[in-house]
Amino acid sequence: MTLRSQIQVESASSSRCKLCGASTEPMMAHNGFAIVRCNECGFMFAIIPPDCDLSAVYADDAYWNGGREYGYPDYEQAWRDARRLSLSRLNHLGQINRPGKMLEIGCAAGYFLREAQSRGWQVYGIELSPMMRKRSEELLGCGVFSSLREAADCGLRFECVAMFEVIEHLDDPLAFAREVRSLMSPGATLVLSTPNFAAPAALRSPGNYHWFSPPAHVSYFTAATLRACIERAGFEAVQVAGVLEGEEMPLPRWLTLALARFRKGRRLRPGGIIGELIKAWQHRRSDRLKWANSMELYARNPLAQVSA
Ligand SMILES: [Zn+2]
Repeated sequence: MTLRSQIQVESASSSRCKLCGASTEPMMAHNGFAIVRCNECGFMFAIIPPDCDLSAVYADDAYWNGGREYGYPDYEQAWRDARRLSLSRLNHLGQINRPGKMLEIGCAAGYFLREAQSRGWQVYGIELSPMMRKRSEELLGCGVFSSLREAADCGLRFECVAMFEVIEHLDDPLAFAREVRSLMSPGATLVLSTPNFAAPAALRSPGNYHWFSPPAHVSYFTAATLRACIERAGFEAVQVAGVLEGEEMPLPRWLTLALARFRKGRRLRPGGIIGELIKAWQHRRSDRLKWANSMELYARNPLAQVSA
């Protein structure tokens, strides 16, 4: 352990939980950051030193093209892997709200918003990375905000806010969720996704779980803490589900062993024949949230406004 991380582990013992305010205890150190867990609600987060600018992570182009351990190895491939899931989310959103104004926070190259645009949504994006912001502006043919503050200053109200794989990057997710809700119309839908830090691999060996990756990922949710955060921010009808698509299929250990001789070290693609069969089986299981590597959440901004 480096001196910096040791100092941070020591200072971590006095950190209060960002969701419920209870005391925390140190879990581990990673990349020079201490990671703590709340003694009451179990929320896990990294301690961010005052001199650390988290937004600098995304301004670095290497984050998007494999140059950083904690970034995207290949952004284009990540979108191809996520496209089908994104389209099913758009279909679901279309069933909840009639297309209106949609804001995507962390819109990257704008691919999701482009699909939303083709379904009749009036799209707005927020992107911290100047390189990705420029790409999304070109793709969408409109301006993209560089911060939530900039979007708020426009005085718009959104019928849908999407933030995929964003909340785990936030130092104060509860404050952020409250601010997001203040930009939403009554009855509007929030949809988000984030890694599941109660997945078997995370519980088995937290030190090796690659999504504990400060300074990129700094807030680590389970289904319970994610629901608590969003409810505390004033949302209602909160639904959390396990996501079984993405770049790698989560498999039970016995199945991994049984398939090893056929896979020959290859990743099991969710769209392959075996992947589809396993997914069909997984989707029927009531306990899939327990072992999915990723979670998605839908919630509603109440019709009668409450203060949060
Ligand atoms: Zn707590």
